[in-house]
Amino acid sequence: MADLLEVNELTRFFDMGNGELCHAVDKISLSIAEKEIVGLVGESGSGKSTFGKTVLGLHSKTSGTVKFRGETLPQQYRPADFQRLAGKMQMIFQDPYSSLNPRMTVGEIVAEGIRLHPQLNSAGIKERVAEWLVKVGLQADHMSRYPHEFSGGQRQRIGIARALILAPEFVVCDEPISALDVSVQAQVVNLLGELKESMGLTLLFIAHDLSMVRYVSDRMAVMYLGSLVEIGKADELYFDPKHPYTEVLIGSNPEPDPEFERSRPSTAIRGEIPSPVNVPAGCRFASRCEKVMDVCRQVTPPLLQLKDLDRQVACHLYR
Ligand code: SF4
Repeated sequence: MADLLEVNELTRFFDMGNGELCHAVDKISLSIAEKEIVGLVGESGSGKSTFGKTVLGLHSKTSGTVKFRGETLPQQYRPADFQRLAGKMQMIFQDPYSSLNPRMTVGEIVAEGIRLHPQLNSAGIKERVAEWLVKVGLQADHMSRYPHEFSGGQRQRIGIARALILAPEFVVCDEPISALDVSVQAQVVNLLGELKESMGLTLLFIAHDLSMVRYVSDRMAVMYLGSLVEIGKADELYFDPKHPYTEVLIGSNPEPDPEFERSRPSTAIRGEIPSPVNVPAGCRFASRCEKVMDVCRQVTPPLLQLKDLDRQVACHLYR
């Protein structure tokens, strides 16, 4: 499959205003093939959401490039860039409570992206909105209601309709289920899976529930303190992690399969993720790694392809 998206050494630092920089995303390279789902995992504070937003131009890039179908996207978007790219790339936000304007009807919210559509009059827009509300499991007459009249799961369906009505090719799903009750999480994931198949979507699926990410993704990428530490096929990486951080991240994640849960060693991640303002020298995971060696505190391990395995790992154990 051809790459739809090519991210090369993408960097996003934030100026803290006191002479310090927050290294939220630091030289990340990742390609995503057409119709592929890549799951991006890591603890809170690892920079996952900032990465997704920077890829879509919602944050300007400090350095690095993002190519979409071979076209290099601007470092900093102007309003015309957002308008031009809205039909190609979209985002589904984490919090269905705060991402929907409470003063707008559901119809107005979902129609936002197609309001300027040159071939659609107001009847055509209404018809398209009704079609999309049904596609995401709501009803056409819900368009005259307001967001507060809906449950969390229904609001996320409204957010999905708003993002997909423009028929984008690439969608960043930023923790789309983490604010929802466990009982509705699987419904929303299944809906995304069905829409991905019917629309041929390519997804970057950001989440912290690793078993859910494994279930939906073709490949998984593990992020720690602004950098990628491991990339591989979802099942292979989940059942045979190579990087010590991936190992403890998966080991500390509740596993729904009781048999696998019993068979694996129980692990917990020691300590806290360091501040992205004071990034340690060498391997960023060294302060929490049980396998740390002298070299780890001095030399940053690059993300390298492992021999005989479809896996990239950034760790001195594999050099
Ligand atoms: Fe641990 Fe060293 Fe590997 Fe970092 S490079 S994960 S500190 S073994």
